[in-house]
Amino acid sequence: LPVVAVVGRPNVGKSTLVNRILGRREAVVEDQPGVTRDRVFYEAEWVGRDFWLVDTGGWEDRVQGMAHRVAEQAEVAVSLADVVLFIVDANVGITTTDEQLLRVLRRADRPVVLVANKVDDQRGELEAAALWNLGLGEPHPVSALHGRGSGDLLDAVLEAMPEEGRGGAVDRGPRRIALLGRPNVGKSSLLNRLARERRVVVDEVAGTTRDPVDERITLGGRDWTFVDTAGIRRRVLQSQGADYYASLRTRAALDRAEVAVVLLEANEPISTQDLKIIDLVLESGRALVLAFNKWDLLDEERHAQLEREIEQNLGHVAWAPRVNISAQTGRHADRLVPALDEALESWDRRIPTGRLNAFLGTLVAAHPHPLRGGKQSRILFATQARTRPPRFVIFASGFLEHGYRRFIERRLREDFEFTGSPIVIGVRIRE
Ligand code: GDP
Repeated sequence: LPVVAVVGRPNVGKSTLVNRILGRREAVVEDQPGVTRDRVFYEAEWVGRDFWLVDTGGWEDRVQGMAHRVAEQAEVAVSLADVVLFIVDANVGITTTDEQLLRVLRRADRPVVLVANKVDDQRGELEAAALWNLGLGEPHPVSALHGRGSGDLLDAVLEAMPEEGRGGAVDRGPRRIALLGRPNVGKSSLLNRLARERRVVVDEVAGTTRDPVDERITLGGRDWTFVDTAGIRRRVLQSQGADYYASLRTRAALDRAEVAVVLLEANEPISTQDLKIIDLVLESGRALVLAFNKWDLLDEERHAQLEREIEQNLGHVAWAPRVNISAQTGRHADRLVPALDEALESWDRRIPTGRLNAFLGTLVAAHPHPLRGGKQSRILFATQARTRPPRFVIFASGFLEHGYRRFIERRLREDFEFTGSPIVIGVRIRE
């Protein structure tokens, strides 16, 4: 479900508005600002559309008046949100804290619905109109306390809301692959093997080189872009490559790619250089496929040895699909496409917020967080803030042990089968 975050400095009426939207008096409203509440996420509904409502008032510091803390909290909320409800107090106007929040909102690329609260009568609507100045579009005058204007406001929220949460299917053209590996591992042989089907040269960068930078290759009936094939095909450059330049080039290729195929030599020990290349891929957050080349040279003894090496050295990327190929003979070259598809599918995937929290609820109930000093950590909510690669944010109260975060990560990966994609888990702690 889409996430709507309610953002505003303390005491502008965030929780009152949340109550108004929820249409019930369940969420506690205190007169003193910053009273810690237990729940900050609510399932809400308006004319048949369901969404998550996030009340950032629940994260307010007990110590008040620190504008940067308020901005920090807003930053988190905004990063999660599909739509931001930005509330200002129409009677007070714009304060320096509001201005700080505005900066956060301008940086974030999210639709903002501007709410002028505490407009209890017609006179207040004039004051609210002055907020057009903020450049956030039409100010919506409401009285959260009395309900005035809240229906129109919710209509505006729905209008700003994406159909299925952020992301969605966008046609981005052919998927982009970085083919990586140390010299002589067989990159250019594999490229030639794959291109045998049909090769179309693309993306000539005018004036820089006569070689194509990238190549488009048809595999499994679809077009793929292999980035920086110039770096693979121009051997001169490659052999010149001091480590530093090689890694610069690899980084640049990863930058433009969506998935990396790291080629390793099946008949030679896994080297530190191989591991370094894999590290660069992990650093880039790209999807990953491991391909062991020169499989035709393998005997049984080496095969057994290789399996041991993989276990010892590649445990941290055990989630990457693996193909055993021979660029020379063409063995299993056709397995590359399904591996790429699987990795990219994981990389693009978005878990709906409802499903994610159902999963987390079950997991935490079955395996509670260990006590610390007799205290329990409470996991409040999780949402997927990003895709490509999937990034999750978990909200907990008190603390969340590193080991437990890793446990959640592992289970998340297993249960939702994120094969071939790194996943990132951020934690937000509420005192
Ligand atoms: P690059 O530096 O990674 O582009 O590696 P090349 O594609 O130039 O290959 C280096 C050497 O390995 C060449 O002599 C290739 O013929 C050989 N080679 C590449 N792939 C295979 C393979 O699958 N099996 C065997 N036996 N040799 C291969």
